[in-house]
Amino acid sequence: MLRLLAPIGMDAESRPRKKQVLLFCGRSRLGADRILQSDIKFFDDLRSNRVLQRNLPDVLREIIERSHPEGITDNSWAGMGRGSICYCENCERKFRSKAGQPIPRRANWDDPAYRQWILWNYDRRTDLWELNNRITQAAGGADCIWSGMNSGSVTTQASSFRDLKAICSRAHIMMLDHQRRNDSTGFQQNGDTGKRVHSLMGWDKLAPESMAMYENGRTSYRVASKPAAEARMWMIAGMAGGIQPWWHHVGAYHEDRRMYRTAEPVMKWHKANEAYLTNRKPVASVGLVWSQRNTDFYGRDTAAESVDAPYEGFAQALIRARVPYLPVHAADIDREAARLSTLILANVGGLSDVECAAIRRFVARGGSLIATGESTLYNEWGDARPDFALADLLRVHVQGKPVRGRRGGSIHTYLRLHPELRARVDGPKTGKEPAATGQRHPALQGFEETDIIPYGGLLQPLRVDAGAATLLTLVPEFPVYPPETAWMRESDSGIPGLVVSEAAGGGRVAYLAADLDRRYLRELMPDHANLLANLVRWASKDTIPLHVEGAGLMDCHLYQQQGHTILHLVNLTSAATWRAPIDELIPIGPLRVRIKLPQGVSGRTAKFLVSTAPAPVTVAGGWAELQVKTILDHEVILLT
Ligand SMILES: [Zn+2]
Repeated sequence: MLRLLAPIGMDAESRPRKKQVLLFCGRSRLGADRILQSDIKFFDDLRSNRVLQRNLPDVLREIIERSHPEGITDNSWAGMGRGSICYCENCERKFRSKAGQPIPRRANWDDPAYRQWILWNYDRRTDLWELNNRITQAAGGADCIWSGMNSGSVTTQASSFRDLKAICSRAHIMMLDHQRRNDSTGFQQNGDTGKRVHSLMGWDKLAPESMAMYENGRTSYRVASKPAAEARMWMIAGMAGGIQPWWHHVGAYHEDRRMYRTAEPVMKWHKANEAYLTNRKPVASVGLVWSQRNTDFYGRDTAAESVDAPYEGFAQALIRARVPYLPVHAADIDREAARLSTLILANVGGLSDVECAAIRRFVARGGSLIATGESTLYNEWGDARPDFALADLLRVHVQGKPVRGRRGGSIHTYLRLHPELRARVDGPKTGKEPAATGQRHPALQGFEETDIIPYGGLLQPLRVDAGAATLLTLVPEFPVYPPETAWMRESDSGIPGLVVSEAAGGGRVAYLAADLDRRYLRELMPDHANLLANLVRWASKDTIPLHVEGAGLMDCHLYQQQGHTILHLVNLTSAATWRAPIDELIPIGPLRVRIKLPQGVSGRTAKFLVSTAPAPVTVAGGWAELQVKTILDHEVILLT
């Protein structure tokens, strides 16, 4: 149990005064820390496996009475995770009174009792959230809130029954415990996290994130400095998504003192520019749909692969294409619809009828829809539907029984592009090539010199409605090795990989059966990212509010504030982009940036908030254009 009076890392004047200091209760401890009597009782109870809840209120009260914190945060507050089923007297009694049956003996997603147990556990954590707030507010006053820490990973939240949406609707401030990138999702995942929590709790609230100044990658070195560039980029990427930097060290004395230099420049920059970093609204035309329920009941025990990977792969393709996007909770589609032109279901398998109806309304009003993989093939319990719930929009139908996860794996397959064009492209000819007639769809732009792209997965047969166009089909598996056997036995199965159509409301609809989103995350094949980006550009028509030209990988976040437009450009280009840690920042530029001006912003004045270089800007046709000469770690453009 750690009791550390911790300023949350922002300057005192920058935060509501009542919330300047939060008390951090964790399971680790400072060597110099004193042990309270209640701590000893707490540890004893932990050892004897008694119920934490009976004792934690006393701990909270004692801390408040003795230390007068302005609020309390707390990690590992959610108790036992999904991996263990608790049969203690308390759980047995409470579950039985709620569900009218005993706690299930084993995990089984198809068992109604287990499903009830999952939902009951979520309710218990939400109850705990409210209970802890009642206690701290009773002991410390109305502003003495308790705000337990949360992860930036929905799958991690699900594994500990922390309902991100329910919590965000209750939290006055979101304390994030999400300390580092992983190699497959990069720094940009922190920007996604910021957007996700703000989309749930509102953009007027704060979401500080506990950022480690010590190394905690593949191996943890708790008392050695994290390479400064690695720590700095994680902070910057989070800030671009609306997260407030909040550094921490383990221990109060360090022999490696380099770590003390890391946070200061970031905090100083944040302080100088914080007027533009909070209380702003995101600007994006594309929404990536998600829900924790889908993570639980569709993702089940493989959510990292079936839920996270397609979402993150699609997000990565959007970032690579510099298309601003927003995470959209499946229950918030109606609320978000007005600002968006395109919704993306990246293998969102489990959606309820109500959620599907919201998507249908979005498309009926002229919105576009891109759905991939098993999207809408399951309901909110993860039970298979006989056909896509949105088959009428997607214009495709299942043939036979869906096989869960059939699209996974990695085998030697390809996707064939239609119409085929190689008869008119330089290269060897057999004379049997199909006549290169017809026009390719805009979704296939940039692939003019190839009739195939790598795939790697399987596809199930589909029936395609009349009027929809099949742009990709599966080339079935053939041997890889020995190399002389690597020739196509069957050039085209006819099984659809991509079907596009126009909806009655004027929106555009694409169903991408092939799991290129998930595959892009794993394999980083540019063909997959380019195809995903093409689909989004086609579906969005001309609604994407940002164009950035110039070499490099960057994460672009666009915001609006009273009288201002704010653009973050986070430079992700590095020798260590896909493998932490970065120890060298590599500058990019020049970049040509065009920003669509919202109502109330003339765009005649521009400022670079990082380089502070002069920023000449030209305005024409409702767009502002300017050049960014160079970006080392990030740049923030303020248009007024
Ligand atoms: Zn229990």
